[in-house]
This record gives sequence, structure tokens and C-alpha cells, in this order.
Amino acid sequence: MSLLTVGSVAFDAIETPFGKTDKIIGGAGTYIALSSSFYTQDQKIVAVVGDDFPQEMLDTLTSKGVDLEGLQIKQGEKTFFWSGRYHNDMNSRDTLVTELNVLEHFDPIIPESYQGVDYLMLGNLSPQVQRSVIERLTVRPKLVAMDTMNFWMDIALDELKKTLALVDILIINDEEARQLSDEYSLIKASKVIRAMGPKYLIIKKGEHGALLFHGENVFFAPALPLEEVFDPTGAGDTFAGGFMGYLAATDDISFENMKRAIITGSALASFCVEKFGTQRLLEITKNDVAERIEQFVALANFEMVQTI
Ligand code: AMP
Repeated sequence: MSLLTVGSVAFDAIETPFGKTDKIIGGAGTYIALSSSFYTQDQKIVAVVGDDFPQEMLDTLTSKGVDLEGLQIKQGEKTFFWSGRYHNDMNSRDTLVTELNVLEHFDPIIPESYQGVDYLMLGNLSPQVQRSVIERLTVRPKLVAMDTMNFWMDIALDELKKTLALVDILIINDEEARQLSDEYSLIKASKVIRAMGPKYLIIKKGEHGALLFHGENVFFAPALPLEEVFDPTGAGDTFAGGFMGYLAATDDISFENMKRAIITGSALASFCVEKFGTQRLLEITKNDVAERIEQFVALANFEMVQTI
């Protein structure tokens, strides 16, 4: 089944306790598309870059099966640029620079050939842009998932709530879930957020795994204990890409299958953090992913012997 990703395609500059990079390729849309390409070849992207964006990376995306008809290249303009510095715990970071450039007036145009897409992943962008994509699709996809961040809760909460009312799944981290719901308990937060629209909610807890909520059901997926986290940038997007790629490939949106999709997303995210930027996602094979998924299964698997 086909998957449409909407998200930033960007330049990033990253500082971690292990080192720093000059401008490298980043962007939520890039991570999502690279990650889901392990599962679905029927992928489309709606995004915008400037004429400074390297053709080589566009060719790489094409070689991974990503249809770039919906990628706008703005002549004479610059690609979105983001720079961040991680603290020693590698969980928190400061944004040093955000240059919106082409994203400032981004109008997400949907090519005719994209109409009828089966799955939609809305990467972190302004909630107005995210909503206009849903409204511009003539047939509602089987599943609409979205990511967002504190930034939009701070400056565009009403817009965010309008968009949330239209999506099936929200994928956010624990800190964002607490801010959005005004509840500290993630169980309470999940109820408040699902009352805003999304029937499903995924709360990512970094090195502590992820929770999936639907109705009265809760599923917990661990994160793989890694010796070293080198650069967490894009891990959340890589998770979302693996999750949606798996659902699109299997075309099954039952709660049971979403559990498998979460493990898939977690496995891909565990690779993403091993090197700077998209580097690790570009060098691993499907076999590497399959092996890591086996590690996840082993990690969470046990036979209980009841003694009471
Ligand atoms: P994550 O680490 O999952 O939060 O995603 C990091 C990616 O998000 C980076 O590659 C950035 O280019 C991108 N990014 C950061 N801020 C924004 C923003 N305001 N809008 C769109 N993309 C962003």
C-alpha cells in the first residue's frame, strides 16, 4: 500500500558530547522516508527545498523508491536549516538556530498522482500545513498519523487542536504529552489527548521505550539498551517512518499489528542514533533490520511460571 509523507527536508548542524557536524542532511521528512523505505517502495513525499539542496540526496531518495513529484525545489531560495546541541544526558537538547527559509511560506501542493494514497504520515510541521494536506486529499487515507512538538503547543495551540481533531494517531514524546494534556500521569494524559481527536496515541519515552494507547488497551515496547547513543537527531521521525512503513506494507491497522509496527519503528530508531544524521540509515541493510527486530523480540520475551 502507498504511503505519503509530509515533512521537512533540511540541513542540520548538530553538536553532541561526541563531536559536531557542519551542515548535513536532515529533516523529519527525510528520516521518515528513509526509514519507511525498508518496508514500502510505494512512497511519496510532499516537501520543499531550496536550490542549494544536493541532487545526490534526491537521487538517493529516488533509489529507495521515494516518488519526488511532490517535492518542490524553489529556485533562488535556501533550504530549511536547523541546528541543535545535546546535553550530556543525550535526551535534552537546545535549539541553536532555526532558519525557516523555504518553509516560511510552504504551500503543500499535492500532485494529482498522489490522490488516493492509502496511508498518510504528517511529520512535524505547522499544524495549518498539516491540516491543509488532509483537506487537499480527495479521498481520506485509511490511516492518518501525525507528529508535533512543544513549539506548536506554545505558539499555535488552537490550530494544533483543529488538526488533532482530524487525525487517527498522534505520535509524541512524554514531555510533549504532558504539556498538551496538562497532566503528569501519562495514563491520564493519554485520555485527555485522545478526547481531542486521535483514537490512537503513541508516547515515546526515549531510552525507556514507547507506549501505545487505544480504547482500554495499552502496549509497552522497550527501547534496545544501547552501549552508546551517538546522535539522537531524527530518532523520533525514524520511529514514525518504521511504524507507518510497516503498517503500509502489511495493510493491517489492528491493535495487534500496531504492536509489531512499534517494534519495527523502535528497531529502526535504534540504528539512527548510532551515527550522526542519516548516515547509519543509509548504510544498514534489510537483514540488519530483521536481526535487530529479533533482538527486540528476545528482549521482551519471557515465560512466566506462576507460583501462587
Ligand atoms: P527529531 O530529532 O525527531 O525531533 O527531528 C529532528 C529533525 O527535525 C531535524 O532533522 C530538523 O531538521 C527537523 N526540525 C527541527 N525543527 C523543525 C521545525 N520547526 N519544523 C520542521 N522540521 C524541524
